[in-house]
Amino acid sequence: MINLEIPRKFEFLVGQAHQVATEIFRSNSRKYDGAEHSYPKELDMLAAVIEGMNEGGALSGAGAGAVGGGSNGSSKKADRDGNRNGTNMASLLGLIELCWGDVGLALTMPKQGLGQAAIAAVANEEQLKRFGGKWAAMAITEPEAGSDSAAIRTTATLEGDEYVLNGEKIFVTAGDRAELIVVWATLDRDQGRAAIKSFVVERDNPGLKLDRLEHKLGIRASDTANFVLDDVRIPKENLLGSPEIAPKGGFSGVMQTFDNTRPLVAGMAVGVARACLERTRELLDEAGVEIDYDAPPHAQSAAASEFIAMESDWEAARLLTLQAAWMADNKKPNSLQASMAKAKAGRTGTDIALRCVALAGAIGYGEGDLLEKWARDVKILDLFEGTQQIQLLIVARQLLGKTSAELK
Ligand SMILES: Cc1cc2nc3c(=O)[nH]c(=O)nc-3n(C[C@H](O)[C@H](O)[C@H](O)COP(=O)(O)OP(=O)(O)OC[C@H]3O[C@@H](n4cnc5c(N)ncnc54)[C@H](O)[C@@H]3O)c2cc1C
Repeated sequence: MINLEIPRKFEFLVGQAHQVATEIFRSNSRKYDGAEHSYPKELDMLAAVIEGMNEGGALSGAGAGAVGGGSNGSSKKADRDGNRNGTNMASLLGLIELCWGDVGLALTMPKQGLGQAAIAAVANEEQLKRFGGKWAAMAITEPEAGSDSAAIRTTATLEGDEYVLNGEKIFVTAGDRAELIVVWATLDRDQGRAAIKSFVVERDNPGLKLDRLEHKLGIRASDTANFVLDDVRIPKENLLGSPEIAPKGGFSGVMQTFDNTRPLVAGMAVGVARACLERTRELLDEAGVEIDYDAPPHAQSAAASEFIAMESDWEAARLLTLQAAWMADNKKPNSLQASMAKAKAGRTGTDIALRCVALAGAIGYGEGDLLEKWARDVKILDLFEGTQQIQLLIVARQLLGKTSAELK
């Protein structure tokens, strides 16, 4: 096992996140799995603590305090050797711990939200001041636009000093509870993907009509909202990035968001998978199964050799994920690595959770153990922010040098 140390400046953050995961998330996991759509009020107290720590600089503006909430590599200075561990790494390490506790609760932490990553990726200084630190959801998906985000139909029309948004957005994580929603919409459907921009909409905008909340397989503590946008009027300064429709590279502004968010979602899967492995190890120990890391697979029990294989798969997913976040912090183009990490960690997380349920037998399948819940929760991490298949497609395009038109 490769033992990468946690950067010293993040030790406090990781410790805090782990404590929250243990004391608040784990103890409320079952409660909010059962009480879908009820707001986990225990998290309010947490938000106040996190805000306080952010203001005091204790979290370096990162991690649990600002999931995806910083620009690439926003740490104040590179470490002495030029190796920078900034906001992306801090957010990732914090999220791994939180999701070791409970993914659904991590996704519904106040003052968080993947929408902040979109804001951080393309917002200007003035927008960062207005929107930074607020709970921001991200609304890309529509009934006719899931994996193919270029098919977005929601329109944004400039009328005087305002954009007017009309359309429908579905499956918006934290959409009901967030303060802001980053909405992807097109300035001109005839101009294809280049005309797609992101817009910040206040949750209480009267044109934003909540249609319904989804009932789900897992992450039930997290609300998933569907909206109709009916003449949503916003100041024109709420467009993120440039309002110009540049035929070449115009889509890359909004797509940049994924370079920040995919490693984070991969990290969530790494966190859940670690929880599964640790719990399964406890159960194997109780059952008297010995694991010998010095012995070859055929020289130990099937359960032990399967466990070791899962651990090495987990380690590979974790390393790819750390690499993708590290590249973002060091301003290295990381689209390829972000997709590789998301594909590997999403698949590995789901795979490990189900294999752990199998190894634990009836204990793993029953509601008496969190393994059952983790196996349901983890699946979404292989789905949203781009499915497994879409990540592989992106990897293939990048490795083969093909455009999205050439390789669909
Ligand atoms: C709980 C939950 C939370 C979500 N949160 C958000 C959110 O906060 N914001 C948001 O915008 N969206 C969110 N989503 C939506 C999510 O990102 C989409 O569901 C996802 O992108 C897939 O889109 P789709 O469901 O339309 O499936 P489709 O795009 O219709 O895909 C169906 C299947 O076909 C495969 N497929 C599609 N195209 C290809 C291709 N070219 N090659 C190979 N296979 C392909 C897919 O991988 C998938 O297996 C959420 C979804 C869920 C379930």
